[in-house]
Amino acid sequence: AQRIVIKIGTSSLIYPNGNINLAGIDQLAFVLTDLKNQGKEIVLVSSGAIGVGMNKLHLESRPATIPAQQAVAAVGQAELMNIYNQRFLTYSQQTAQVLLTRDIVEFPESRKNVVNTLEQLLQMGIIPIINENDTVAIDELDHQTKFGDNDQLSAIVTQLVKGDLLIMLSDIDGFYSGNPAKNKNAILFHAIHEITPQIWDYAGDKGSKFGTGGMVSKLNAAQRILTTDSAMVLANGQQPQVIFDILAGKQIGTLFC
Ligand code: ADP
Repeated sequence: AQRIVIKIGTSSLIYPNGNINLAGIDQLAFVLTDLKNQGKEIVLVSSGAIGVGMNKLHLESRPATIPAQQAVAAVGQAELMNIYNQRFLTYSQQTAQVLLTRDIVEFPESRKNVVNTLEQLLQMGIIPIINENDTVAIDELDHQTKFGDNDQLSAIVTQLVKGDLLIMLSDIDGFYSGNPAKNKNAILFHAIHEITPQIWDYAGDKGSKFGTGGMVSKLNAAQRILTTDSAMVLANGQQPQVIFDILAGKQIGTLFC
């Protein structure tokens, strides 16, 4: 069986106006269930807890303090799983929630427990839905407990389960020779085999290695994947059906291998 990890970002789950993209989530559930039914093993890494929490609590803007963000994330995580469960059950697919912290990297015993759980879930035909445990991961700069962001988390999970492929769904078609929002001449890379200083430059600000999101964070994830036998594809998650095309070998997004 082919083992695939999919990472989906907040921008694919929540519209800019704060409403939840139920059509996108439903399509994701449909695609992932179909892949599982084809015999593949699927792991989903999903962001979105704070965004869904803001929606549920009718908050206009992201809370200012970290405890407030953690509280909203705790509300949102439950609601996010509620939505996933509902959508996946439409296709008779079981899911499980797995919340992780950085100790899976630091402590072999924790890592072993995580691997055992994920292996068992996959064996049972269940799709694990993974997110960072925001209650325990205290602070954006706390590298002891925090992964940095879900880009790193998804790469670590791919390593843990020895995934064949990490599909990272973002709000952009792939990796360009500059930020397309600022540089309209930027061109899309179809494949990257080594992350050279030039490539880091194209990603812009390299100073915030542990910042959340951005292309630097995606390159950090890609770099981790390049040290393994796995590959990573960065693609646009607006239409989750794109996953079918990627697995069919069509040239979509940027392949890191
Ligand atoms: P997500 O929320 O999906 O994780 P991010 O917002 O963190 O995505 O990162 C995607 C954004 O990175 C793009 O929308 C684009 O504006 C910006 N970006 C900066 N440099 C590049 C680049 N070289 N190629 C593509 N996108 C880039």
